[in-house]
Amino acid sequence: MSGSLSRRQAIDAVTKFKVAATATDVPLADLFGINVFSKSVMKARLPKNVYKKVAATIDEGAPLDPAVADAVANAMKDWAIEKGASHYAHVFYPLTGFTAEKHDSFLEPDSSGASLAEFAGKTLLQGEPDASSFPNGGLRGTFEARGYTGWDVTSPAYILENPNGNTLCIPTVFISWTGEALDKKTPLLRSQQAMSKQAMRLLKLFGHNDVDTVVSYAGAEQEYFLIDEHFFYARPDIMTSARTLFGAKPSKGQEFDDHYFGAIPDRVLAYMIDLDRELFKYGIPSKTRHNEVAPGQFELAPVFERSVLAHDHQQLMMTLMKKVAERHGMTCLLHEKPFAGVNGSGKHVNFSLGNGNQGNLLNPGDTPHENVQFLVFCAAIIRGVHKYGGLLRASVASASNDHRLGANEAPPAIISIFLGEQLMDVFDQIAKGGATGSKQAGVLELGVDSLPPMKADPGDRNRTSPFAFTGNRFEFRAPGSNQSISDPMVAINTILADSIDYLATELEKATADGTEFNAAVQKVLQQVILDHGAVIFNGDGYAQAWQDEAAARGLLNLRTTVDAIPFMAEKENEELFERYGVLSARELEARKDVILEQYALCLLVEAKETAEIATTMILPAALRYQGELAGIAANLTAAGIDSPTPLLGELTETIGALTSALATLNAGISGFHGEGELEEATYGLETLIPAMAAVRAAADTLEGQVADDLWPLPTYNEMLTIL
Ligand code: ADP
Ligand code: MG
Repeated sequence: MSGSLSRRQAIDAVTKFKVAATATDVPLADLFGINVFSKSVMKARLPKNVYKKVAATIDEGAPLDPAVADAVANAMKDWAIEKGASHYAHVFYPLTGFTAEKHDSFLEPDSSGASLAEFAGKTLLQGEPDASSFPNGGLRGTFEARGYTGWDVTSPAYILENPNGNTLCIPTVFISWTGEALDKKTPLLRSQQAMSKQAMRLLKLFGHNDVDTVVSYAGAEQEYFLIDEHFFYARPDIMTSARTLFGAKPSKGQEFDDHYFGAIPDRVLAYMIDLDRELFKYGIPSKTRHNEVAPGQFELAPVFERSVLAHDHQQLMMTLMKKVAERHGMTCLLHEKPFAGVNGSGKHVNFSLGNGNQGNLLNPGDTPHENVQFLVFCAAIIRGVHKYGGLLRASVASASNDHRLGANEAPPAIISIFLGEQLMDVFDQIAKGGATGSKQAGVLELGVDSLPPMKADPGDRNRTSPFAFTGNRFEFRAPGSNQSISDPMVAINTILADSIDYLATELEKATADGTEFNAAVQKVLQQVILDHGAVIFNGDGYAQAWQDEAAARGLLNLRTTVDAIPFMAEKENEELFERYGVLSARELEARKDVILEQYALCLLVEAKETAEIATTMILPAALRYQGELAGIAANLTAAGIDSPTPLLGELTETIGALTSALATLNAGISGFHGEGELEEATYGLETLIPAMAAVRAAADTLEGQVADDLWPLPTYNEMLTIL
């Protein structure tokens, strides 16, 4: 399909689009959770004592009693079959960041030749998919294929629908035969448990002896692009690499700021409504939807949940976003930077700590200076982010997110904290010896009597900060749109476990020495702010001045994945993960290798695709046009007309540039090598990236020179605006 043909087809799809009323007979609210084997379904279907045990594991992290498995499996099977399921699948989250599932039928033939629906407790508890085809970072040889999936009772099973039949999906963890984590879920569960243990210890010091658990909550705002599917199929670069490897910047991009929060196009809104209905069925609490900054870019934010559940929901949400888009003739792009020079997509991870009895532990109240418990948790975060900024940076590192971090749409690679004016002021007072007051929120004077008075927050927001306090939670803005929230949440939970442990220990020591509790708190808060205040930055994170200042403050600036990932396995990080039982040194090392390997592979695939498209699509188009121009020039000369040749001259020059850049790229691809993952990744960074950039520069210049009807690829303008 040529670029111009795909454009005509996409325009056709848009102009002929009619909003189809999709099954509006069931109100949205009635759909919520209908596909979920939720606590209420369990309560109705399980013997009371079994239900109680399962609920205690889900709500309070109590150890799972394996004896309940048979009863749960039986109830789950009956429910699933009533819902039209013929198969079940253990769903797990391998280190690729994707979601994996292996399906098995419920039906097993019995001796009489009839088939029986079987689903025993042991099948629910444990599965055994072949682990050899998933990345494991050297934790096991390819010949040692055994891997196990284990039922994660804290995340509810659900029915995945397909027009041809349904499947019961059971969220699981995925471990090797030697018991090492091969997935993103196991460390998330471990880090939640570690954080909870330390947080309960700290809460006890504040007199809360009745706490069963402290939960980390996550609410992930998901940005994404939609393009018409005709464009997708006409762009082999998007098909293989999920992003455009070519494309000149459109003459009108996002300069006018006319897309953000703009009226949502009908076709997109129809998609969003359909998607919300799907998400609701799976109990995913989708809440906010709006246009994002770039044309063709949108955002979806669900209500926050326990971070372990939010993780599973996030993974399913990404799958559904793509699936539902197909139903609407569109492709959903989750890549961090599908279009160069256009706003990229992130996944801001909002997080807080709390539980049923305490509520949100990051809620400062109206007078934060008096809310000592809040200040201690806040200080734990400040300390953790300062001490382990490099680890947080590594937790969001990937080839695709490298395009985004530090560009003008996402925080820089320097990890700092934004506290806002009110909290900053409280901590300033603490640093000077004690806080006595909190700046108060104002009332906004609108000058119109008919409008109600509006309250201003005590501090503004800062969109340039990677780690911002936003009133009752922190927002980690560096994670990429396509990544699993596990890595950032594991890092956050673990550094919190460490910092809370430190604070609790200091307070215990001080009070054991006879210091009065409040005085001990003041002292430890002051110490934290003196030791770690350098990580607090309320200014413009996009400015060059911050790069210089951050360096002077000794903050790390790990610009690329190749800089950040080796840092992940540094001694102090290794000790941190081991101390809290989140990842063993071997597991951490394996993860480091997998990320670097994925990085190098991603660049290699992109480099090959760049070479192929340049050779088989762009160069031929340019040569055809060159031939056409040369023919015209010859005819004009023959007719005695002075031929206007600058076009031909310029085109010929760019073709020369493209050919030579291609030769360099091809040499780079053939020379791809490395002794180990780090060397390969470094080769990709230093050799393949610049070689691809040179090919692209020449090709993008050609886009402005070659006749539009010959140009083989849909343009940025078309893809971003024909929706
Ligand atoms: P923004 O103005 O930052 O774009 P959104 O409304 O798009 O805000 O998203 C905010 C996200 O933060 C939502 O997912 C929301 O559920 C989540 N959130 C709100 N309160 C908390 C909290 N206490 N803990 C964790 N996440 C929260
Ligand atoms: Mg938002």
